Amino acid sequence: MVISALRSAELAEEFGLPRDHIILSAKVSGVQDLIDVYRTLASRCDYALHLGLTEAGMGARGIVGSAAGLAVLLQEGIGDTIRVSLTPAPNGNRAEEVFVAQQILQSLGIRSFTPQVTACPGCGRTTSTFFQELAEQIQSYLRESMPVWKEKYPGIEELKLAVMGCVVNGPGESKHANIGISLPGTFEEPKAPVFVDGRLMTTLKGDKIVAEFIEILNDYVSARYGPGPAATVEAGPGARETVSRN
Ligand code: SF4
Repeated sequence: MVISALRSAELAEEFGLPRDHIILSAKVSGVQDLIDVYRTLASRCDYALHLGLTEAGMGARGIVGSAAGLAVLLQEGIGDTIRVSLTPAPNGNRAEEVFVAQQILQSLGIRSFTPQVTACPGCGRTTSTFFQELAEQIQSYLRESMPVWKEKYPGIEELKLAVMGCVVNGPGESKHANIGISLPGTFEEPKAPVFVDGRLMTTLKGDKIVAEFIEILNDYVSARYGPGPAATVEAGPGARETVSRN
């Protein structure tokens, strides 16, 4: 496969195709084969390489297989373009292939496409599903806002959020995000500290936590990524206290 691909590329050049108009793509459907073939191609030529697992499969199998193969190669600096080929579920969303490819690049720190939400997996410390619902609502809000935000706020795709399920371990993770919230876990006081750029900004309580967190998010995005001189984001213990209204 490698020899015939290289011979085809050389023939294309002999017929006048400029070298920088040639991209080699191998049809491979096994992860180990994909890695072997592209390592060999990369060691033998400097043509641009298009990586992708052919017929990766459905759902988790296809996503995991594609991520496993592409991650190894990309981490070694091999590959110039990528594709993800998934078998969609009936009436499934074809755009999932693009989301997965983007997420692979973003997870490896190669290129950012959309703000990331870190959500804790949940454990014995939390008995409610509120942290999952909040993470999902924030993710949906980001998805809906991105078409406008991308134009209005350059660099917004680098934003990192954290939605954690308890105030024992949540604040630690929250401090690594631009904005992080720790929801109350089992037997914890019903309050949710919010950290902005590593510092406690406020503590939310009551039944409007989602709306108030989104308001904080909007203010932060506008202040940090909006036009004009960067505004100071209010921070510090007790800088802003939102009181329960229930
Ligand atoms: S942040 Fe808290 S609730 Fe979430 S996984 Fe960690 S310990 Fe469990």
